[in-house]
Amino acid sequence: MNIKTGKVVIIGAGAVGSTFAYALQISGVASEIVLIDIDKKLAAGQAMDLNHGAFFAPPVNIHAGDFEDCAGADIVTICAGASQRPGQTRMDLVSTNINICKQIIEKVIEHTTESILLVVTNPVDVLTYAAVKCSGLPSQQVIGSGTVLDSARFRYLLHQHCGIDPRNVHAYVLGEHGDSEVPAWSIATHGGAKIVDYCKACDRGCSEADHERISQQVRDSAYHVIEAKGATNFAVGLALVRIATAIIRNENSVLTVSTLLQGQYGITDVCMSVPVILNNKGVGSYVCPELSCNELEQLRASADVIRNVQRRAEL
Ligand code: NAD
Repeated sequence: MNIKTGKVVIIGAGAVGSTFAYALQISGVASEIVLIDIDKKLAAGQAMDLNHGAFFAPPVNIHAGDFEDCAGADIVTICAGASQRPGQTRMDLVSTNINICKQIIEKVIEHTTESILLVVTNPVDVLTYAAVKCSGLPSQQVIGSGTVLDSARFRYLLHQHCGIDPRNVHAYVLGEHGDSEVPAWSIATHGGAKIVDYCKACDRGCSEADHERISQQVRDSAYHVIEAKGATNFAVGLALVRIATAIIRNENSVLTVSTLLQGQYGITDVCMSVPVILNNKGVGSYVCPELSCNELEQLRASADVIRNVQRRAEL
């Protein structure tokens, strides 16, 4: 079988961008990786370091570049901008990062209107909305990394809690990639069984309070990692490879990327995460599983949080 590889441009070669490049190099999913940073020396250094690992990884052309290198890219990823310092929320970054993001998108669009734009910079939902507006691209072509990482954290914690192989745990975090996100317990399953039903039968005797503690752990994950090591980079790097693979290999994978909602769950004019089918055109369609009344309420409240920040940012 001929397995497709692709060209991925990464703008912002700091902790997140360089870790994504590293994980992508090892994955074999990309034939070309371009690193762009306002700090050209940093981008060149990261490319050099990655290339020194060429002997140990599948073949891939890795180089530092500039915006003209966006031409022909399958995916242009935006990881540039300020990151959270200990105690900061993602929304605190909006005024700094919105301008960086807009400037970058204007330059990208001069060279490609075919690529999938993948926004990673925080606050990722607000910046994905800004990217939809200022790129003028069809909204299915502009996505944010959304809660793909948070959903992985949720699955990991459920695996730890229930003692079940993480590959058999299916669970999604919906809404904002941030404090208002919604771990959707009502649709979390393993082995085809709803985890909430399994909990009732399991001899560990889990209560609502245990579920809320896990939800809070999912929401606070980034704060704990940033407090301990200053940035999050490894898990997000892998989450980005998962997204890139779904796009380049046209997998039709169900992933919770951030995307413009147009009536799904009664929510409009905001970018946030719900399960969507992702392929080489971007968002193919929305899955929209039925949620509990409480989760639906929380999801709409999450949309309001994002929309309020969008309005304050005059988007
Ligand atoms: P970092 O400071 O290590 O790297 C940011 C890079 O952006 C720097 O190298 C900087 O030179 C570059 N940059 C700044 N302005 C630029 C411009 N105009 N053009 C090109 N490059 C520019 O930060 P990081 O830890 O890599 O985080 C990057 C972003 O990713 C942050 O906003 C962070 O909050 C976000 N993040 C998102 C997720 C997610 O799941 N969406 C997870 C982790 C981090």
